[in-house]
Amino acid sequence: MNIHEYQAKTLLKSCGMPVPEGHVAHSAAEAKDIARSLPGDVFVVKAQIHAGGRGAGKYVGEPATGGVRLARSVGEVETFACEMIDRTLVTKQTGPEGRLVRKLYVEAGCQIGRELYLSLLVDREKRRLTIVTSQDGGMDIEDVAAKTPERVLTASIDPGMGFQEWQARDLAVRLELRGKQIRQFIQVLRAAYDTFTTYDASLVEINPLVVTKDGDLLALDAKMSFDESAFFRHRDLEDLRDENEEDPREQEAARFGLSYIGLDGTIGCMVNGAGLAMATMDIINAEGEQPANFLDVGGGASREKVAAAFRILLADPKVEGVLVNIFGGIMRCDVIADAVIGASHEVGLKVPLVVRLAGTNVEEGLTMLKESGLPLIVADDLGDAARKIVAAVRSGRKS
Ligand code: GDP
Ligand code: MN
Repeated sequence: MNIHEYQAKTLLKSCGMPVPEGHVAHSAAEAKDIARSLPGDVFVVKAQIHAGGRGAGKYVGEPATGGVRLARSVGEVETFACEMIDRTLVTKQTGPEGRLVRKLYVEAGCQIGRELYLSLLVDREKRRLTIVTSQDGGMDIEDVAAKTPERVLTASIDPGMGFQEWQARDLAVRLELRGKQIRQFIQVLRAAYDTFTTYDASLVEINPLVVTKDGDLLALDAKMSFDESAFFRHRDLEDLRDENEEDPREQEAARFGLSYIGLDGTIGCMVNGAGLAMATMDIINAEGEQPANFLDVGGGASREKVAAAFRILLADPKVEGVLVNIFGGIMRCDVIADAVIGASHEVGLKVPLVVRLAGTNVEEGLTMLKESGLPLIVADDLGDAARKIVAAVRSGRKS
């Protein structure tokens, strides 16, 4: 799960991260009141969406640009807020459809000297928390890594030892920080590490971490992601969820406890077993089309759960065809057939459906499907199934 910048800054601040003073606003009037209460006479108004690249973003159908704007008076904060709230912001991370801006963050502005990059993430290969930092902040770290890999510095944290000050000191020197900034960098890293470990995060990213003209370190932007498998330890994190920012297909799937990940392709997949689901996605890809989702209905799923899964696939406007690939073991083929028939009658089957069933109660399942009158295509094996669904989707596009 991802959270907004303003929420991430609140968590980081509680662990000792230096951040500018700011508050979240839901209207232009509220933004103005917040600006009045802030120190100084320069403010930053920031669109709160779960996507980066806001600074260079553009609003759909609007001349005013920018999801991050520098205001030089309280009046300007109100004007900018009016131009930003309830508009759709397109950044290179949102896709062309953009995201509706429902909230703004209003912060005290600062004078930037240098922009650095800092993040903490899990390096799965090393099985360690890794610090990534660079002198080239304010831009995409992927670009920096591609063009000038020598400017990306990393250090991994020994899980037995935890965060060590000497690592921060070493990185600070390599970032050409001086004097009090070295002590501040240690504090910044400790705060990032404490926040990460306290909340079982999977990412903490500060981009940019700035050195102000006065020579102090300050986290100007913050992004955090969490490992939902650890949510049982952090009930309060669930309150930070913003359903407006989440894939509606995944929300519906979560309500039924399904392992579902929405993707951008056109072939909906209903499969049992994560490995078979991955193989099914690969083979669709090998046939030249893309899966619309990952879905593992699991072993002992009920008819209701399978029907919910099938409804989610059929309700997805991107889906041009559905491939059901079940290797019946604990999951029985007749349960799958029953759920597919039920959900198809309920929602209406408007796209081609290819079914490949094997294993427990396969005869019963296939008989039920054939007798249901649904216009489905039966496949013998995985390769056959992929070829058939791809052919059906393509002929659907031509007609
Ligand atoms: P992103 O584009 O979504 O990553 O949004 P950021 O929060 O990183 O803001 C983009 C850029 O706006 C930063 O890299 C800064 O250059 C600039 N910016 C943000 N806050 C301030 C501020 O308080 N003062 C000044 N001068 N610039 C700021
Ligand atoms: Mn940023």
